[in-house]
Amino acid sequence: MLALLVLVTVALASAHHGGEHFEGEKVFRVNVEDENHINIIRELASTTQVGKAGQNKPAIFMDCGFHAREWISPAFCQWFVREAVRTYGREIQVTELLDKLDFYVLPVLNIDGYIYTWTKSRFWRKTRSTHTGSSCIGTDPNRNFDAGWCEIGASRNPCDETYCGPAAESEKETKALADFIRNKLSSIKAYLTIHSYSQMMIYPYSYAYKLGENNAELNALAKATVKELASLHGTKYTYGPGATTIYPAAGGSDDWAYDQGIRYSFTFELRDTGRYGFLLPESQIRATCEETFLAIKYVASYVLEHLY
Ligand SMILES: [Zn+2]
Repeated sequence: MLALLVLVTVALASAHHGGEHFEGEKVFRVNVEDENHINIIRELASTTQVGKAGQNKPAIFMDCGFHAREWISPAFCQWFVREAVRTYGREIQVTELLDKLDFYVLPVLNIDGYIYTWTKSRFWRKTRSTHTGSSCIGTDPNRNFDAGWCEIGASRNPCDETYCGPAAESEKETKALADFIRNKLSSIKAYLTIHSYSQMMIYPYSYAYKLGENNAELNALAKATVKELASLHGTKYTYGPGATTIYPAAGGSDDWAYDQGIRYSFTFELRDTGRYGFLLPESQIRATCEETFLAIKYVASYVLEHLY
């Protein structure tokens, strides 16, 4: 098993794209439907493995880039990988985490939407899928999971920003993510999904006004994590169950992962609280990534001490 596997984004996406947008991301050229290309993706991913290999290592899954316009999110996943690779063997905590845990990092789930925000429409949110009977494009990937699917805080209208899709996992991106997690369920101990903005750390549930079995533990962990996050630049986060902390919303990946049995499932809403919103200034990217990195390390260390 690998300590750090960057899940090359295109494996979960449909973009047939030139790859000129992101330095080093030549994988964008690859079309996933081709079996040979999947092998190429694996080879590329293998260049970013660090840490000790081991049988049945516990793992943490983290994704970024669900919602296309939340640009700080994919920036963070890239930062995380860079820091992990850069500090492994030099920094005690990172070294221990990577030696004892596998990290699966998916830098951009919604790659088609993300590219669209760079090329056509900065505030695009959804995927870029088409729907029969409608000229409207896209599904909200974070309303597309099989967790109270479309029951609350989601729309059945393809023209809406929170369109839940024609069915749960109708999007190739969400289906691929769900398949990946289902396949590795016995090893994945935490699911972390990075969004923006609001400065919140959210845990289940969002699809209903109910609490998870280990709600008190999640609450305590969130409280300690946001304290750690704030220690660097003073950034204040709120935290709590999704439905009451941000808004009720069905079909989210965090609730879905939690209901699969992943006891530590969190959504992070990064900076800011609305002054710039999705247009977080470049001058805040580094500080945001630094403080979020602290938070993720804190959660990972906790998980390592509370394996199940
Ligand atoms: Zn989001």
